[in-house]
Amino acid sequence: MRFSTKAIHVGSEGTQDAAGSVNVPISMSVTFDQKRQKEKFEYGRTANPTRLALERNLAALEEGKHALAFSSGMAAITTLMTALKQGDHVVCVDDVYGGTYRLFSEILMDYGLRFTYVDGTDLKKVKKAVNKDTMMLWVETPTNPLLKVVDLKGIAAIAKGEDLISVCDNTFASPYLQQPLKLGIDAVVHSTTKYLSGHSDVLGGAIVTSDGELHEDLQFAQNAMGAVPSPFDCFLTLRGIKTLAVRMDRHCENAEDIVNFLLKHPAVAKVLYPGIPTHPGHGIAKEQMADFGGMVSFVLKEPARAEKFLRSLEIITLGESLGAVESLIDHPASMTHASIPPEQRAARGIGLGLIRLSVGIEDIEDLFEDLGKALEA
Ligand SMILES: *Cc1c(COP(=O)(O)O)cnc(C)c1O
Repeated sequence: MRFSTKAIHVGSEGTQDAAGSVNVPISMSVTFDQKRQKEKFEYGRTANPTRLALERNLAALEEGKHALAFSSGMAAITTLMTALKQGDHVVCVDDVYGGTYRLFSEILMDYGLRFTYVDGTDLKKVKKAVNKDTMMLWVETPTNPLLKVVDLKGIAAIAKGEDLISVCDNTFASPYLQQPLKLGIDAVVHSTTKYLSGHSDVLGGAIVTSDGELHEDLQFAQNAMGAVPSPFDCFLTLRGIKTLAVRMDRHCENAEDIVNFLLKHPAVAKVLYPGIPTHPGHGIAKEQMADFGGMVSFVLKEPARAEKFLRSLEIITLGESLGAVESLIDHPASMTHASIPPEQRAARGIGLGLIRLSVGIEDIEDLFEDLGKALEA
């Protein structure tokens, strides 16, 4: 089966009720009749039929053997970090999702984990940051919000050589555009809140891996810690996934048009998008991604005008999150990345003029008009 067919069918086929429902039934039951059941379910935190359908689907989309679904992306990431023990060291890309950075630096460091942040585009620096206590390499690509591209094959090779767990947060690309496990990465995490569910109406997270031992440990942690999604959330996520392929095609098409529009606009100093041939990661993106994605970042010539610009938009919504049918725009310095200390933010290149746009699937002419008017406001 190919991608779109899997997205629509995998998971739904195993859970047929007496009526032959085409969609996975939302099984709200928390406990299961041990004498009457055909499949083994015990208690809703441990496993649930609707969640299992989503987990099968996610494993298929990432071409992994196992998947676990969680109540949010952060719940998935927190659970994955239980693979590490006190004293373990993690090498993490410096341009990591703000919430991941906050979890690592403000919570997990108190439990004895240690982190080094490096520019993930420089594999020599990544390798140099590995020490005798290092157990994990954590990457995102394209990164947030600077859309840098990390060479996943290169990261996987370093991890294999040093016997580390390699993790890729694949939220920005989605499995439609990038499948890190096929490139040798050990575990993929997702905020399914974003492209996978796609409609800004359900929070969720996932871990996908083909490593049976890691999966068993994480499944134990999922049950022990309990950050599981509701059956209704799983249903909504599965419903979103059915249209992932067509949505992603339109996200990419619209993003490319917006990039060309912004590149020509006099109020814009710089456009960051892996699809631009002069982008430093363009070559690697072309190799490891099917297309360049729906996220576009750009820098205004006059950072002081950022607020006026953002407040003047009428169709594009000023808000956090990304990956949904509606276009969402973000000012990282004051919104999604505000929890990073200002000096570090500046050092990482997240200035006051930086804007992150999650290009939606609206009519492109409406997006051009909205951006054009606001840039001239
Ligand atoms: C949103 C996001 C997360 C966190 O996911 P939640 O569902 O909000 O908990 C993690 N990583 C990336 C790249 C994200 O965009």
